[in-house]
Amino acid sequence: MAILVIAEHAGGALASATLNTVTAAAQVGGDIHVLVAGHGVGTVAEVAASIDGVSRVLVADAGAYAHQLPENIAPLIASLVIDQTVIYTHVLAPATANGKNILPRVAAVLDVDQISEIISVQSRDTFKRPIYAGNAIATVQSNAAIKVITVRATGFCAAGVGLPGDRAVIDPVAPPHDAGISRFVSEQLATSDRPELTAAKIVVSGGRGMQNGDNFKHLYSLADTLGAGVGASRAAVDAGFVPNDMQVGQTGKIVAPQLYIAVGISGAIQHLAGMKDSKVIVAINKDEEAPIFQVADYGLVADLFEAVPELQAAL
Ligand SMILES: Cc1cc2nc3c(=O)[nH]c(=O)nc-3n(C[C@H](O)[C@H](O)[C@H](O)COP(=O)(O)OP(=O)(O)OC[C@H]3O[C@@H](n4cnc5c(N)ncnc54)[C@H](O)[C@@H]3O)c2cc1C
Repeated sequence: MAILVIAEHAGGALASATLNTVTAAAQVGGDIHVLVAGHGVGTVAEVAASIDGVSRVLVADAGAYAHQLPENIAPLIASLVIDQTVIYTHVLAPATANGKNILPRVAAVLDVDQISEIISVQSRDTFKRPIYAGNAIATVQSNAAIKVITVRATGFCAAGVGLPGDRAVIDPVAPPHDAGISRFVSEQLATSDRPELTAAKIVVSGGRGMQNGDNFKHLYSLADTLGAGVGASRAAVDAGFVPNDMQVGQTGKIVAPQLYIAVGISGAIQHLAGMKDSKVIVAINKDEEAPIFQVADYGLVADLFEAVPELQAAL
């Protein structure tokens, strides 16, 4: 019996969320296989094969799997489970845009319920997941024969990546399946020299208090000094200050960095849902009653236009 972990990757690099998902799989217990589906993914498969605890890497390398079209990848995963050459008891994917796009389709094909965004493994069939924007934690027990699960990366530490000599077996999966019902048209990629938000060890986020997009320059230079990623509240995104891929929260990205600095953010529960698991939270807000101070480890009641330049100068 084995667990199938679906690798998240982009641009020829394995995404770190895969490592957290392997840790979740290790807590379930059993042989861990990783599926790398894509086009030109040889390097990704090599890295996946060196993740600690992984015994086998399945590589589906074909044009049909480029750009992670779920209409092609979901049937591939379902066929690996149905085929029963290996008995898979669990299928795990990171709760990323791709994971959330692909796994519900797998669950539908297998006619089982999906368990979404687990943050802990209690046993092979029981998991914890946040509900109500993280205000309550549900314990979910599933009696489905195959557990199809998305994993919130911030709930698990990253599995180690071992020495190249200590590698899992890499096996190709054939033949490719092209459902022919969707096609990739184009993509617009945000490029930044700063660390990606969900992987950054430090995140500096701005809210409506920043007043406009131009004022985010204060946060960009602070972030560059700290080597941080830059996030934002939904109010700042909706007001057009910054693009929506910077949004942190219930309907944005979930982050849990070592240090989260919230600037001019009130601390609505939908924002807290995306950052309250950060190790250390610093809040700068001129309103001492702002709810962000209830979760902050360090709070500074101050005008951000004075405090941020002072902090920058001190750093
Ligand atoms: C279904 C749903 C999903 C949502 N999803 C998200 C989500 O994913 N992420 C998210 O962030 N929100 C989300 N929201 C919105 C959320 O409810 C809040 O509206 C939003 O988080 C508020 O953003 P904010 O804190 O920047 O703005 P505000 O609440 O307006 O707070 C601005 C803060 O800035 C402070 N401030 C102003 N000027 C200064 C200054 N000069 N110096 C210091 N402080 C200053 C103010 O005191 C205030 O506390 C969602 C809402 C709903 C209904």
